[in-house]
Amino acid sequence: MENKIHRVAVVGTGVLGSQIATLAACFGYEVSAYDSDEGSFERALDDLGSLIERRGERPVVSVEEWDKGARKVVVCKELEEALQDADIVIEAVPEDVELKRGVFQRLDALAPAKAILATNSSSIPISRIEGVTTRPEKCLNLHFYFPALGTNMVDIMGGTKTTDETIKVGKAWIRSVGGVPLTVNKEILGFCFNRVWRAIKRETLYMWAEGFVDFRDIDRAWMIFSGMSQGPFGLMDNVGLDVIYHIEMVYYNESKDPKDHPPEALKAMVVRKELGRKTGKGFYTYPDPEYSNPGFLEA
Ligand code: NAD
Repeated sequence: MENKIHRVAVVGTGVLGSQIATLAACFGYEVSAYDSDEGSFERALDDLGSLIERRGERPVVSVEEWDKGARKVVVCKELEEALQDADIVIEAVPEDVELKRGVFQRLDALAPAKAILATNSSSIPISRIEGVTTRPEKCLNLHFYFPALGTNMVDIMGGTKTTDETIKVGKAWIRSVGGVPLTVNKEILGFCFNRVWRAIKRETLYMWAEGFVDFRDIDRAWMIFSGMSQGPFGLMDNVGLDVIYHIEMVYYNESKDPKDHPPEALKAMVVRKELGRKTGKGFYTYPDPEYSNPGFLEA
């Protein structure tokens, strides 16, 4: 299919937006970016450096290409300037539905009529945002996973009026930046893989909190089974246990099912500021967690 996207605009260049902008630039797109905090693009890329080295096992682009791509992104002072002639706009501002609705209203007013408007939200379906625009048929969820350099899959989900054509163009664009589109046919919280990952988190947190199995054995089992360099608890430490707790609460608040409530023991860790890698302690201690020791998987 002919690629209808030439110019990409990214709005919100924190942790994820900076990566999406860079990724698109690496794959030859003209990319402009806007953030209400002017220095955010540079800062986000600086923070990403060490993580890229750790998570770049199956990189979508090499670290060298990544650096070159980042330099090609045009960071604009005004939103209007960033949206000029954009074919697709990807919003990556914080996870707050009212904030996103406000941003989408401005995007709709300022972006060319041809532009597709996408949100990178981790949990808010586009159906809760599209209503503030005059082009709901061109609105969709495009959810990149972290880090966009090493995790080449993207959830794609339409809202109540998104056309097949918009989904088709979105899928083609994801493929064109080295990604695998994961198509969600019917709206669901958590999209595709987040929901799979969430089922793993819920079960393993329960097994640990209720004292059934030591978390290290759960991680060992996972690492042997999958060949990955971390198990669920190592991964949760890397994401941040505050983030994990917050996400679990989003699911609980949606379902109100007590089984969906994250364990109190996890909340206690968050209160103690044992948030994982970023505070030096979570399930493991950092910078040298036990699961990285060569002996961790020995019998
Ligand atoms: P972040 O806080 O790192 O970045 C958000 C950026 O948006 C900040 O730089 C902020 O200055 C900017 N911003 C705030 N209000 C703005 C406005 N009105 N206009 C323009 N810029 C504005 O957040 P993040 O972690 O990059 O998350 C962004 C989105 O991506 C969220 O919806 C989140 O759920 C989603 N997401 C995050 C991850 C992740 O691992 N961090 C993964 C997948 C999806």
